[in-house]
Amino acid sequence: MFNVYMFENDTLDKIALDIKNCKLCLLCSTRKNTVPGEGGFLKKLMIIGEAPGYHEDQSGKPFIGPAGKILRNALSKNDISIQDVFITNIIKCRPPNNRPPQINEKNTCIQYLERQILLLQPKMICLLGNVISSYILGIKSITKERGRILHKNNLKYFVTYHPAATIYNRNLLNIFEQDIKKLSEYISFNYSDLQKSY
Ligand code: SF4
Repeated sequence: MFNVYMFENDTLDKIALDIKNCKLCLLCSTRKNTVPGEGGFLKKLMIIGEAPGYHEDQSGKPFIGPAGKILRNALSKNDISIQDVFITNIIKCRPPNNRPPQINEKNTCIQYLERQILLLQPKMICLLGNVISSYILGIKSITKERGRILHKNNLKYFVTYHPAATIYNRNLLNIFEQDIKKLSEYISFNYSDLQKSY
């Protein structure tokens, strides 16, 4: 991560425009819309998933399909609104038929996520699922590492399951909801500090 330098006067809108015009990998030929990310970021928390799915591709908004509803419900139950967080994915265009992103696609698209992180300077980054946890932190077992704060390159991470994995597994859903509760307690506890130091 962080092979790009901070773009002068970079903004979320500029990054979104660059993503919209991007043709650096073949996913540009099958996407309907790019999905740069969404949120108000009041609590300095970034939530990052794997890639947009069908509903996200149709609308250009992240996490609005069935998995997104699980995430948004879990956030809402813990009084976290979309204005509190910035939600995005490592890949900004939908892979055909929701296949897993290929390594070359991740390596190419990561520059936009890096720019978003450099610009927003999140105090906490929540990674959803194995694909991104393994890619960014080299985590081999999400079961072992989930639910606690991890540190890398002066950034704080919190890893949990991807909400899509919880759709047909009630046990995982309970664990996922407990993790989001823990995350909300952490960011609420540190909220005044986060506001001061930003
Ligand atoms: S997935 Fe990323 S790198 Fe590929 S075309 Fe879309 S924005 Fe560009």
